Amino acid sequence: MMKTHNCGELRLEHSGQRVTLAGWVNRRRDQGGLIFIDLRDRWGITQVVVDKENAPAAHEIADQVRNEFVIQVTGVVRQRPEGTANADLPTGQIDVYADEIAILSNAKTPPFYINREETVDEALRMRYRYLDLRRPRMQRNLVLRHRAIKFIRDWLDQKGFVEIETPILFKTTPEGARDFLVPSRLNPGKFYALPQSPQQLKQLLMVAGYERYFQIARCFRDEDLRGQRQPEFTQLDMELSFVEREDVMALNEALILALIKAVASEKELLFEPLPRIRYQDAMEQYGTDRPDLRYDLRAIDVSHIAGKSGFRVFVENVEAGKPVKVIRAPGYAAELSGTQLRKVTAELEALAREAGAKGLAYMALPAEPEGEVKGPIGKFFSVEQKLELFENVGAEAGDLLLFISDEREIVYAVIDAIRPNLAERLGLLDPNKLALCWVIDFPMFYWDEENQRWDPSQHMFTMPLPEDIPLLDTDPGAARGSQYDMVCNGHEVAGGSIRIHDRALQEKIFPLIGQTMEHAKEQFGHILEAFEYGVPPHGGIAWGLDRVVALLAGEPNIREVIAFPKTQRGTDAMAQAPSAPEPQQLEELFIQVVLPEEEQA
Ligand code: ASP
Repeated sequence: MMKTHNCGELRLEHSGQRVTLAGWVNRRRDQGGLIFIDLRDRWGITQVVVDKENAPAAHEIADQVRNEFVIQVTGVVRQRPEGTANADLPTGQIDVYADEIAILSNAKTPPFYINREETVDEALRMRYRYLDLRRPRMQRNLVLRHRAIKFIRDWLDQKGFVEIETPILFKTTPEGARDFLVPSRLNPGKFYALPQSPQQLKQLLMVAGYERYFQIARCFRDEDLRGQRQPEFTQLDMELSFVEREDVMALNEALILALIKAVASEKELLFEPLPRIRYQDAMEQYGTDRPDLRYDLRAIDVSHIAGKSGFRVFVENVEAGKPVKVIRAPGYAAELSGTQLRKVTAELEALAREAGAKGLAYMALPAEPEGEVKGPIGKFFSVEQKLELFENVGAEAGDLLLFISDEREIVYAVIDAIRPNLAERLGLLDPNKLALCWVIDFPMFYWDEENQRWDPSQHMFTMPLPEDIPLLDTDPGAARGSQYDMVCNGHEVAGGSIRIHDRALQEKIFPLIGQTMEHAKEQFGHILEAFEYGVPPHGGIAWGLDRVVALLAGEPNIREVIAFPKTQRGTDAMAQAPSAPEPQQLEELFIQVVLPEEEQA
């Protein structure tokens, strides 16, 4: 070993020992006869002192080193002189009084500071990711990721699970995205599809009798990289046999709670056990199936009151079956001056319009009981109606009430746009709090207007709730799936279901989702065939592991917990991938590239 200790290790009790350290120069200060070097490795920083009088040769070398040089230092650990200890540094009681220094590698001046926690342009970070990963924040994140995965592996092992790797070169395994294709040189004209998840393979492992499978699995989905998606990402994938919905949920709930306590104990868990919300209730109250429950701000239906008011829009909407809902922002009106109130409500209204609404009405409740309710719609409600309304939504003095009324789908979109925005304004988005919940009873299908067919809301292997199976023939849109999503702070962190294990039922799903039986057999014949050889009832789940780790790390973006993520355009900015292959490579694959005209230039 080229070092006897790491740079985070030495303490007062090592005083007098001769040690060798190696790492990067975090900082160098030249004070004439003395040169101070903060030496850094993954474990920490140790101060090295080089004294010209004591070690002239080492001092000469220390004079040449610059930030990010890699050096090796040998010297004696000593207590720092009186008054120079650094309480912020675990090694701050000591320094290494060096007498030998070797430069192992020079370094150019990095394009951004490694030794300061400051915001660096993301494009630059991605271009020089190996330098970005030297920074303490990224090292913390990647080590946390390692700890989380190790904890999960050990925990599942204890529960009798087996980790089994499944192929990357496979066949389409649809999860609602486009496949990445890989041409096969040995089978000209044929392509593998990279799995969007190990879904089929884990079900086949259940047929094979493994009963409790998991995998830290890489998944590939070629989709437009809206928001924070990554074209390749990591799932904790699992599947169990002889289980019901409750069993899978209970096991995963226990695992995530244990994980948080083990690797992120500083986080405040808001709910334990996890609340369960039906899909329909989630939509009505939060406008989304991934509600952020760190804050309430739920929408409350007031159609029965607003429909009796003198406000024509509400009355007509309620008559037409469109709801009127209120979101109550506690105390917000009391915080805002008249001008601020107009500005805030105009901004919220703009959000509502973006989400498809025609407007957003409000009432600002006075802070004093004698005050006036502000807002253009106040006058359309009688005193009794106002009182009834306030009681229904639990309003208190100084609250801001926002009214949303439109087609139900638009109301959902508006609620979903307003809630997080309000929460941010009210300072309710605390990354140290984790609000976990389950969402259940999803519809099996969503109607795809464009293609005139049903789309599975999860995937085509999901079992309908037993009582809803007859609906597949009569009213597929009303059938609910035996699905469960785990949601944390407004993100879906895991999703799964009990599966169909019956060939006839599986075959019934294909035509509903617009697959001809012929095509289905071509793509999924192996599953249908396997279903003829004794299939245990089974179900499973997959966690978005990148998201889970990001939440544990308190990071807003999953790119911060992936060592080498792709950019928003699906590229690797460091290695310049994807790139054009050599013509010969294409020839071997019998592939010709025909670019759209605008890209030919
Ligand atoms: N395969 C599903 C997914 O990737 C999860 C599951 O049903 O287990 O979302």
